[in-house]
Amino acid sequence: MIDRAHIDVLIELAGAGGSTTDPAEIAPHLHEWRDKFNGRTPLMLMPSDTETLSRLVSYCHKHRIAIVPQGGNTGLVGGGIPGLEGRDEVLVSLKRMTRILDVDAQDFSITAEAGAPVATLQAAAADADRLFPLSLASEGSCTVGGVISTNAGGVHVLRYGTTRALLMGLEAVLPTGAVVNSLSSLRKDNTGYNLAQLLAGAEGTLGIVTKATFRLYPPERQKHTCWLAVESPAAALSLLASLREATGDRVSAFELMPRVGLEMVFRHIPNTRDPLTAPYPWYVLTDVATSREDPGLAAALDAWLEARLEDGAILDGAIAGTVAQAQDFWRVRESMSEAQKHEGGSIKHDVSVPVSRVPAFLTRATEAIEQTYPGARVTPFGHLGDGNIHFNVMQPKDGDKQAFLNEWEGMNRLVHDIVTDMKGSISAEHGIGTLKRGELARLKGQHDLDAMRAIKAALDPHNIMNPGALFG
Ligand SMILES: Cc1cc2nc3c(=O)[nH]c(=O)nc-3n(C[C@H](O)[C@H](O)[C@H](O)COP(=O)(O)OP(=O)(O)OC[C@H]3O[C@@H](n4cnc5c(N)ncnc54)[C@H](O)[C@@H]3O)c2cc1C
Repeated sequence: MIDRAHIDVLIELAGAGGSTTDPAEIAPHLHEWRDKFNGRTPLMLMPSDTETLSRLVSYCHKHRIAIVPQGGNTGLVGGGIPGLEGRDEVLVSLKRMTRILDVDAQDFSITAEAGAPVATLQAAAADADRLFPLSLASEGSCTVGGVISTNAGGVHVLRYGTTRALLMGLEAVLPTGAVVNSLSSLRKDNTGYNLAQLLAGAEGTLGIVTKATFRLYPPERQKHTCWLAVESPAAALSLLASLREATGDRVSAFELMPRVGLEMVFRHIPNTRDPLTAPYPWYVLTDVATSREDPGLAAALDAWLEARLEDGAILDGAIAGTVAQAQDFWRVRESMSEAQKHEGGSIKHDVSVPVSRVPAFLTRATEAIEQTYPGARVTPFGHLGDGNIHFNVMQPKDGDKQAFLNEWEGMNRLVHDIVTDMKGSISAEHGIGTLKRGELARLKGQHDLDAMRAIKAALDPHNIMNPGALFG
């Protein structure tokens, strides 16, 4: 239990509007999107500026009070929920730090506070005729601090990289309360360790991000969104290389979906429909985009499509004729996770393997699951262009949801062992949180873990900053 006297001091330090102990106000912050993690805390702090946050963290450091930082609470691995596993933790929400501080069209950079939702950065960049390319289904809610701390990926990694690649600098409050500031739009800066990159992907274990500067790009003025039906993941993969070549490497998204996943979307998500008239085993959704009007690109794409239809690599396809149609195509893809929620129990694996090995991974992992868990419905989808597959397994039809979900750990081990054997990663973009802590300890190299723990101990000697995430 956190001492009442400490809670009173923290409320005082947080100032007017900077805290709440009201269970109703705190409640939405205690449950994760997939309903897998439900926490508790007596206190939510909501600082409105870095100085206040620094004072709060200093106090927690001094009195060994554990903190869990939270942004939009769209994380999927139990990393932003306080009070799990019986821990006593104060929640620090960045919800009052949402300002866009600067958009510099000359520098191609944007600076924002950590609680700003990604969609507001996209809009601010667009207003300046620039592109903030990070794009994910949760973009209306997920925040600057959250995407940095999980090194979020999304659908444009193929072209623009993960959040790490977009991050230019940041300001953060370290676990002692000290403020570090590398906020800058410098393209080059070789002055020792890169603290911004150290905090990226740290899942709030090394400090609380308060502001960040990201790279911007020229807007995609001409974009072609294509919906392609294919026989297999191997056929889909063969299209990736040939499309990159045919379009002068202008592919900005390349997503893979199975028919079974589409049917779940059509069953559960209103206003979605199949862009094609007949069903096919697998689909690719791809964007080909360029920052200047280029009639040659449309012609090259048409010629490529015609040739691939002729040689049978593509079974059928449609190019969106309007922006609304492109949005309809993407709505199907973006609804995959949501549809699975309605379908029943789903055991998740956010994994990656080298791009060329995705088809072999899918075959191996699917066979292993079907042998071990008869009736389970493998429903993988994801960012084929990055080798990142959300290898989700749905409960058998008419099966018992809880009995199926009880298999979570065993199934994870089965899939993660295959991923590891194929030189892949057990967390491609969602992070470790509390969910995959055991698997990280089991599968990460001992020297890597030792180095990570040494960094954690150096920056957070009392282990107050998100102590349940990563290591536990
Ligand atoms: C429908 C849906 C689709 C998604 N699609 C994708 C996808 O395509 N790609 C992808 O990568 N992820 C995806 N996610 C996962 C999620 O959106 C991302 O992980 C996102 O980065 C989390 O941001 P957030 O602000 O919600 O962070 P939260 O959920 O609040 O927190 C996530 C982690 O970051 C830490 N954290 C949050 N803010 C800070 C801060 N200011 N300083 C330090 N630590 C902090 C938390 O402690 C926690 O460990 C999806 C989630 C949903 C629900």
